[in-house]
This record gives sequence, structure tokens and C-alpha cells, in this order.
Amino acid sequence: MNKNSLFSVKYDEGLSGVMYKSFLLKRRIMLCLATYGDLPTAELARHLNVSAPTVAKLIQELVGDGYLCDMGKIETAGGRRPSTFGLVANAGHFLGVDLRDDSVNLGLIDLNKNIVSISKNNPFTVEERPETLENLCSMIDDYIASLHFDKSQILGMGLILRGRVDSSTGHSYNHFKFDSRPLAQTMTQMTGIETIIENDTRAMAYAEYTHSDTENIKNALFINMTRGVGVGIVIDGKLYYGKSGFAGEFGHIPFFDNEMICHCGKKGCLETEASGAALEQKFTQSLSRGASSILSDKFRRGEKIHLVDIIEAARKDDVLSIDLITVIGEKLGRGIGVLINLFNPELVVVGGIMAEVGDYLMLPIKTALNKYSLSLVNKDSTLRLSTLGDLAGVIGAAQLTRNRILEIM
Ligand SMILES: [Zn+2]
Repeated sequence: MNKNSLFSVKYDEGLSGVMYKSFLLKRRIMLCLATYGDLPTAELARHLNVSAPTVAKLIQELVGDGYLCDMGKIETAGGRRPSTFGLVANAGHFLGVDLRDDSVNLGLIDLNKNIVSISKNNPFTVEERPETLENLCSMIDDYIASLHFDKSQILGMGLILRGRVDSSTGHSYNHFKFDSRPLAQTMTQMTGIETIIENDTRAMAYAEYTHSDTENIKNALFINMTRGVGVGIVIDGKLYYGKSGFAGEFGHIPFFDNEMICHCGKKGCLETEASGAALEQKFTQSLSRGASSILSDKFRRGEKIHLVDIIEAARKDDVLSIDLITVIGEKLGRGIGVLINLFNPELVVVGGIMAEVGDYLMLPIKTALNKYSLSLVNKDSTLRLSTLGDLAGVIGAAQLTRNRILEIM
């Protein structure tokens, strides 16, 4: 399969008007099948508002090129048994790259959204230097080679990053600012794979949303509880971006009158008291005041206590860890209550590293929601833990790339 046939042709590449029109129709057939699943010719013609013979001819060409296949006959009310057509899963693949604080998750999905491969927790050092991007490209190349894939089989790559990202222009505002070009463009050039960039919380939100009952759930919020705290917003089944893609800065709502300076430079942000960074800080403060924990020895040796250590300790029923997580959960729950009152979503998913403690975080959130959100609004919302865990990012990155390349809105 040559990706240059159907997915990267531009009008100015010498196609005649008639050929370009049928090229566009083929793309629309692919989009239609990606959106609605397998369909017979007549249904496709109706969706596209094009004559059935025209669609039938293009379908045959797409079958010949390996993009579509005959999925067998279906029964209809009139007794006819037309053939249905569907996308060939391995006609194209999409790569997800989740650049985390100290590791990279990589994953590949096919044209039908099946997960082909996932490689998680590959150690990686993120520095604001061009070498970091070069190292990342080498890691991506090695991963593709390890799957015995050729780059031409990969139609697109989604790179997700912490911090502010404008996915429409491809600019990253917190990372890799040493190059004036959009990061997406730089990565496309460096890897030879069409690249989109996206914010981590939004990609995670999308993956968790698509792993829900999307028939009945159209509005959902995803709370990314890591060192910071962000929210991914799905409205009417679509991710909400805001004007420049900066929507969801939940952690920087000035929620507390506490004189604590947030890393954003403002005072009293939600993140100053309800985040992984706040947990680290409060934990260390408690130990220096003499509180005891299974991490006390490590602290006495002068080693830094990281968020992951506290999460691990809580999972081993460390009382200090659990107590501090409870306090943070209550404060976070108040914040989530505000979001529920504003958005009236059917679903709220809590994910990110801190969600790994499960009920130790979820129970205080629920208590606070009952206390602080309007009960009429609150009863519409189901609150649940992330089901995809630390794979939400890489899966969402690949899915959003598929949407972008297939032009699924
Ligand atoms: Zn802030």
C-alpha cells in the first residue's frame, strides 16, 4: 500500500478536474465508512448524495487499491441481499507518541482503530534542546523498525505534550520553543511522517470518551490529575478546544485565598492545593514536622520524595499518604463540583498518575461532590476512574491522528 495515493494528493499536483473530483469522492467514501461502519453501496450513495453507479465504480477502484473490502451480504427488508463494504484495517496505520516527564509511550493503531502495538515506559530524558527531538525521532524509527513496518504504511503521527499546545497551527508553547517553526512541522520534516501535536489531557480525554458508551454519552469531562491538574472537555461528542486550544486550564482557577504562588505566577490556583505537586510538597512538609510514613527512612537519608513514591506508599496503605490524598481529593472534588454545575456532563472520568490510588482519591471526591454541587445537576453525572490508565494518552494521540488524516470532524 502506498500512502501517497489516497491520503496525500493535493489538487495542485497535476490531477485533472475529473480525477480530482473522483479522488475527493473516494476520500468521502472512506470517511463515511470510518464514521458509520460497514455499509452497502446504496446506503453510501445516499449518505454522499451521489448516484449508486458512480459510488459502485469508485468502490471497485478502492477495493482494487486495497483500501476497501467486501464484508459479505446483509439481509434487507425488501428481501434483497446487497454486499456491504468496509475499510481494510491494515490499509493504513496511525502512530501515537506520548512524551511524558521521564519516559515515552508509543503505540500504533490501524485504519479500523484496532490497537496493533503498544510500547510503554521507554526511558527518556526531556530537555529543551534540539538533541531531545533527534533522540525522540530515533526512538520512533526504532519502534517502527521493531514492528517490521515501513514508514510508508504510517499515514500520520500524533505527538502529545504537557502544557499549552495549539494543535491547529502545530505550535507548542511550553516545550521545544528553540525552533521558530511549528513543532508539528519540524517533526513532520524530521520523521517523514505527517505529524500533529496535541495536549496530553485532551488526548487522554478523547481516548477515555471513546471507551465509554458514546451512544448515550455526548458530554464528558476528563480530569488529568498528575503533577498539575487539567480538564479535557467533550461537548456533543467532540473535543472542545477554545479559540487557540488553551481551554481546560482547570488547575489555574483561583480557588483558594492562600497567598501561595503557583508556578503560573498567580496566587491561590487550584493546583497550589489540589495536585500531585501540592501532594509532594505537603508530604515533605509533614515529614519534616515529624510525621511518620513508610517513606520516613528515605526522607531521613536526604533523598527527594517524588509523587510516584507517595502513590506507591498509599497503595501499600501508608496512613500519611492516604490522609494527604484525602484532603487533596476533597479540594479537587469541590473544583469538579464547579465544573459539573457549569457543564452538566453525563460522565466525569478521573485519570492521571494520582488516579492510580483508586478509592483513596475517588471517595473524598464523591463526598465533596455531594456537598458542593447542585444535587439536581450532580445526579446526571456518573463519576468513574480512568479505565485506560497510563495508556490513555498514547491511544488518544493515535485516534486523534486518525481523525485528522481521515478528516473526521
Ligand atoms: Zn496557576
